[in-house]
Amino acid sequence: MTEFVPMSSQGVFKKLILTMLVVSIFLIGWHHMGGANRDLRVTVPDWRFEKVDDSLQGGKTEVSIVEWKEGASITCRIVNAAPYPFCEIAIFPQQIGESLDLTKYHSVSLDIDYHGPLPEGRVRVYLRNSNPAYTDESDPVSYKFNAIEYAPGINQGPLTIPLKSFHVLSWWIADYNIDLDHAGVDLSNIVHIEVATGSHVEEGEYTLTLREMTFHGYWITEAELFKLVMGMWILAAICYLGYEYILVRYQYQVASRREERLRKNNITLSLQAKKFAALAERDTLTGVKNRAAVQEWVAQAVKQSQRYQRPFSVVFMDIDHFKEVNDTHGHYVGDDILRAFSHLVVEWLDINDVFVRWGGEEFIIFCPDRNIQSVTDLAETIRYQVESAHWSHDAKITISAGVAQLEDETPTELIQRADEALYKAKHAGRNRVTISSPYR
Ligand code: GH3
Ligand code: MG
Ligand code: MG
Repeated sequence: MTEFVPMSSQGVFKKLILTMLVVSIFLIGWHHMGGANRDLRVTVPDWRFEKVDDSLQGGKTEVSIVEWKEGASITCRIVNAAPYPFCEIAIFPQQIGESLDLTKYHSVSLDIDYHGPLPEGRVRVYLRNSNPAYTDESDPVSYKFNAIEYAPGINQGPLTIPLKSFHVLSWWIADYNIDLDHAGVDLSNIVHIEVATGSHVEEGEYTLTLREMTFHGYWITEAELFKLVMGMWILAAICYLGYEYILVRYQYQVASRREERLRKNNITLSLQAKKFAALAERDTLTGVKNRAAVQEWVAQAVKQSQRYQRPFSVVFMDIDHFKEVNDTHGHYVGDDILRAFSHLVVEWLDINDVFVRWGGEEFIIFCPDRNIQSVTDLAETIRYQVESAHWSHDAKITISAGVAQLEDETPTELIQRADEALYKAKHAGRNRVTISSPYR
């Protein structure tokens, strides 16, 4: 199974941040330049224009209408019969049941001409909102009146009015007992629009002409865009931190695995080193120490003995006619005898004695704190034991030994004296112990 290895995040996130910066600047610039603008013009065939008068309220006003694609014109003769005589252009969505969400729009351009008996005659524009909280479909007055009233004049061209200028008619709030939650302007579900005569009307001839009604808005408002860009940055930051966390955890795991491996390797190495060290110190055939293993120790022990004037003696042993044993019985028997001899010697040693295979069939016992008499006895004991032992080749084995006690001399000189004593023992007929006399 391949393991997931996270890449270093630096490069990836540098690119991401750069891209996001470009995107953010582009979006803000795009919005600023009007890229998100949208206009909704009220026209046929999406909308239809209708005339409405006060006859339902018991009025006698008469209205006629002329319509075209972008607008309509009504001519009314207002008669004082209803309590509030009026006439109006009502605008409905062509599809029945359709409504308009104007919350994404900020203003409306209105081009209305007003001819009437009063010079500064005013019109009312209603954006009628439906909401189950207050609307009863059988009652046309129950749709909320989001209203403005102004004097449009004649041939003034389009006037842009912020939708913030709309307010809810107070008589409607009172008549319908609207609670505070629903008393404000609500443009989220506009089901029809009205352009009507104003509050003060007198009897007479009126002409209201709606040339243009266009709502201006954004596909996305500045606040929404800001939220979007912020969200994008927050998401990127979370991703970055999450990724960094994964990366750091991964690096930690790799490091601790490596550490564990190194630790195990160290243990193995130190065990191996110990084994090798032990092997290097011991003679593989007999298991006793070899010459190299004791060299340093001998030098130290000799120095100590001289400084504290303690005795230090050596026994230098050599198996007699060992070549013959090999020649007669073979090398394997020779090896056996070397091993058996080593075991035998060890049995007679003191705790401080150091037994060394000096080479071939020659062995030395280094004896700290033993004088010449003590090591002569030791050598004599070993000689006797060897002579009396039973050997695998059913023949006798003897050894010769030279013993010497440390004088004011080097370790090499001491060993040499013992060797010379051994030589003398050989010459004197073998199977004996010879004591070295000191140089001085
Ligand atoms: P001497 O009484 O004068 O000591 O006679 P020697 O035959 O013992 O002396 P020499 O030094 O001529 O021969 C030593 C022999 O020891 C030669 C060699 O074959 C034998 N030898 C040395 N090391 C080993 C060993 O590890 N195994 C065996 N089997 N023989 C060894
Ligand atoms: Mg020899
Ligand atoms: Mg020999």
